[in-house]
Amino acid sequence: MKRTTLLIFIALALVGAACGPTISDKPVVVTPTVDKPVASAPAVDTPTVSKPAVVTPAEDKPVVSTPTVNTLASIKAKGVLVAGVRGTAPPFGTVNPNTKMNEGYDVDFVLYLAKKLGVKAEFRIVTAVNRIPLLMDGSIDILAAALTITPERTQQIDFSHAYFMTGKKFLAPTGMFKSLIEFNGKKVGTSRGSTSERVMVAVLPTAEIVPFDDYPKAVVALQQKKIHAVATDEAILAGQLYLLEKNPATRGKFEIPDLRVSTELYGLGIRKGDTNFLEFVNKTLIEMEESGEAKAIFQRWFGRNSECPIRRGGFTITKNVSPTE
Ligand code: GLU
Repeated sequence: MKRTTLLIFIALALVGAACGPTISDKPVVVTPTVDKPVASAPAVDTPTVSKPAVVTPAEDKPVVSTPTVNTLASIKAKGVLVAGVRGTAPPFGTVNPNTKMNEGYDVDFVLYLAKKLGVKAEFRIVTAVNRIPLLMDGSIDILAAALTITPERTQQIDFSHAYFMTGKKFLAPTGMFKSLIEFNGKKVGTSRGSTSERVMVAVLPTAEIVPFDDYPKAVVALQQKKIHAVATDEAILAGQLYLLEKNPATRGKFEIPDLRVSTELYGLGIRKGDTNFLEFVNKTLIEMEESGEAKAIFQRWFGRNSECPIRRGGFTITKNVSPTE
């Protein structure tokens, strides 16, 4: 990692460390301000494999290990942008129980990109484990799935500019944890295939890290006292805490202590070598920041009157915020 990048990270960590969720008990009606390009397809549990993006190596060029992909042309030709989003990670990606539509912070970014392209948005539910393979095999065009940019992942896929910043924290019984030492010998649930597993093994070497398939399952185990805490990105934990606060049986029983152990920058995932699509996405993200659209989406899902109020801090989408430059 370059020195300048390291400095950016430290600066971000300091800014981010000031953020802490204060959970409001006032649910709000979420009214997307992004004009939906078209009705998005209903959520599906099992991603259906569509044809991979056209891969056409130029005849007069030597064959290289990264095939030529032109997802931008393929999206325009088929008239649809297929995005991998989460189904059980509010407020990033969830399925509205009444409308059965995908919704969330990540979903709104996809809707804006689709609108900009003049195509429909279609959503496939992905998990932390299968999201990168589904992008790589062409089942989806883009990943908007609470995906942290990491050096390991950039070996497999490309990332857009960071469009969200958060950090690892814990969801635990109220008053149980005030310092990391108290996790000694405790069971901490995480999401399988997420950065949480790796971060927790590093910062809590004497705790038992227990991977779950998704967050709701981990939270159920927490309520049943099978584990002592759930660890993942603060913004995802805020979504789970909101659900616990909404339920009179669990209201006030859980909290997110002020123990932040990492900084996570989320990027949209794009296939490697997909240069013009990556440029389009990055240009659009900068445009969204400059027009105030990105902030409006943040306010909708994380603002003061939202279900998961957290502060954006000093974060803005900029081409300079990338841990992998
Ligand atoms: N942002 C983290 C990751 O990309 C954790 C969220 C998750 O995917 O479960 O791994």
